Amino acid sequence: MNAFSFYNPVKLIFGKGQLAKLPNELASYGQKVLVVYGGGSIKKNGLYDQVMTALKEADMQVFELPGVEPNPRLSTAKRGAEICKTEGIDVVLAVGGGSVIDCTKLIVAAAKYDGDAWDLVTRKAVPKEALPFGTVLTLAATGSEMNSGSVITNEDTQEKYGWGSPLVFPKFSILDPVHTFTVPLDQTVYGIVDMMSHMFEQYYNEATNTPVHDEMIEGVLRVVMETAPKLVQDLENYELRETILFAGTMGLNNFLRMGYIGDWASHNIEHAVSAVYDIPHAGGLAIIFPRWMRHNVHVNPERFAKLAEKVFQVDPTGKSAEEVALEGIDRLVAFWSSLGAPTNLADYNIDDSQIDLMVEKAMVNGKFGNFNKLDEEDTKAILTACL
Ligand code: NAP
Ligand code: FE
Repeated sequence: MNAFSFYNPVKLIFGKGQLAKLPNELASYGQKVLVVYGGGSIKKNGLYDQVMTALKEADMQVFELPGVEPNPRLSTAKRGAEICKTEGIDVVLAVGGGSVIDCTKLIVAAAKYDGDAWDLVTRKAVPKEALPFGTVLTLAATGSEMNSGSVITNEDTQEKYGWGSPLVFPKFSILDPVHTFTVPLDQTVYGIVDMMSHMFEQYYNEATNTPVHDEMIEGVLRVVMETAPKLVQDLENYELRETILFAGTMGLNNFLRMGYIGDWASHNIEHAVSAVYDIPHAGGLAIIFPRWMRHNVHVNPERFAKLAEKVFQVDPTGKSAEEVALEGIDRLVAFWSSLGAPTNLADYNIDDSQIDLMVEKAMVNGKFGNFNKLDEEDTKAILTACL
């Protein structure tokens, strides 16, 4: 293990009926609240009304930023920051999935920054201050509700980058599994693929001697794989939604990677793909991750074989580590396909015409990945295998 300091100040409020805590949680931050949400799912399922009732109870003055896109856009975050500045907003409330939360993170930092908000994403500037914000999560996937990362798309330049700051940890996040009942089948599956990918990114890391981390990651992955097939048949089952919701948060609240970063090459490649084609984040990951795995088995076949045995239940008897590893990857592809996830870029009508552009975007900061550093040739080979 590497030396590390661990810091995660997010107050996690989990369980049925916990929205009742919202007025109290907001009370200490001021009276003017900006509510940020997406394209309307919260209006259809009634959560919007519940949130507004709670805010009224708390006597708060409410401003709204609706319409945050999946793959949230820079222009939307700038609009939110503008409202914060002109109205003197005290606190922001994100009600939605990862996109709404990620957009809110940029809003709260940009509200206290005088330059172009894109500077914060590209690391040209480091945020010095941010407004406080809380979240009401509606989709199990990203872990954004309990981390300080955010992914933003600049629609003008077709760039999509992750950024982060300790200033953009949510003050609190309210997670009620009931709020995820209406997540449609496809988004439920994307969420499962995303959280599993986060755990894979952390399993393939730059550290050595991580037996506790390994067991934790393998354990959460096994639970997700046991739960997911039941959940896709029974979308309003409380216990199944609860398990997946908690797994998504644990998947990327940094508890599973104390002391190391993880690989994150597949996420980097996916951000390049969705910057050009605006496809769902985890749709891209379902296609890319198995190709990244096959491309990298040679780096440490035993590591891949361990995952195959402990998570994909591959019997290693009489097989080489590489054979076990490859069987595990095949099982992962079969598992994600059985849930309905895409397998090839062709599923999104993506052909090879923009591969060089996607490679260029993935390589913008040079070689990437911490388990294995990928160069241009590796990236092109992985993307070509995805077609
Ligand atoms: P999302 O983009 O927030 O939401 C996807 C879709 O699900 C939206 O159309 C949304 O509709 C709908 N939806 C959300 N909750 C719903 C509900 N309860 N009922 C019905 N529909 C619902 O999905 P996400 O997977 O959570 O976030 C993806 C984004 O997060 C990507 O941009 C990805 O790059 C980023 N990401 C961030 C991190 C991080 O750590 N910060 C990690 C991984 C990925 P409405 O818009 O109508 O609400
Ligand atoms: Fe992700």
